[in-house]
Amino acid sequence: MNPRCSCCDERFEREPGYYTGALYVSYAYYTALIVSCFVIMEVVLDWDLVYFLSVLISLIIVLTPPVFRLARLSWINFFISYDAHKPTHCPE
Ligand SMILES: [Zn+2]
Repeated sequence: MNPRCSCCDERFEREPGYYTGALYVSYAYYTALIVSCFVIMEVVLDWDLVYFLSVLISLIIVLTPPVFRLARLSWINFFISYDAHKPTHCPE
């Protein structure tokens, strides 16, 4: 993660251990993913359990980097609100 936003210079490195709460956010995202995959693959499509688990584990491995970043973004957005009037360096 970048230490500061390149547009508005917001500091992303808040304090040591700040993103520990993002673990709980990613836990919620993974729970939603697993439950929805279970409903789709097991209940709707009636897949074999071994096939379902192999697809699910592969999906979790592939989605780990984006979910990690999404959880951190979600966590910091709990505490920092969007400010439309904050000066930016980036073009609109
Ligand atoms: Zn920014």
